Amino acid sequence: MEEKILIIEDEEKLARFIELELEHEGYRVEKATDGRDALAMAEHGDYDLLLLDVMLPGMSGMELLRRLRRTKQTPVIMVTARDAVMDKVTGLDMGADDYITKPFEIEELLARIRAALRKRSGAAAGEGLLTSGKLTLDPARHIVRYGEEEISLTSREFDLLQALMENRSIVLRREQLLSKVWGYDYMGETNVVDVYIRYLR
Ligand code: CA
Repeated sequence: MEEKILIIEDEEKLARFIELELEHEGYRVEKATDGRDALAMAEHGDYDLLLLDVMLPGMSGMELLRRLRRTKQTPVIMVTARDAVMDKVTGLDMGADDYITKPFEIEELLARIRAALRKRSGAAAGEGLLTSGKLTLDPARHIVRYGEEEISLTSREFDLLQALMENRSIVLRREQLLSKVWGYDYMGETNVVDVYIRYLR
């Protein structure tokens, strides 16, 4: 099934360029140039993702997002002006899933769209994010971040970290960790856990 994306962007050349690229990738695309029209489309349509410019005629992207989130959780990628840090923070606080800064490379946009759509599939499966301080672990997308930075882990390390974060308030016994991460039939030395925990720290 083709995923349907609504591009909300008043710069028509840019919107047309993104539309062509997304169609080339196999997405179905619709466009809106005015904030109010776009909100009505987003509320009544069945889009898989919205690409939402912040600066729009009719209604700002922020206001559109705020109103949309009363009824819909459609994934939203905000398009912000360069260095508009407040826009990014406000957008994320209001429920945007991600943001991209103008001018952007189309490949980066495509990657962010794929990630947002994957995240939505994961969320649909009922798997939530785990957080601990600045550390965020996304079980659905298999991604770990420290602040903004993505951390590269092997799948064992990932599973161990997930087990630790899921049981943050409980002191896990070595054997419990082993059975969670390696499976019940693991026959190796228990000190592999120590090695991995040292590495993760
Ligand atoms: Ca604009």
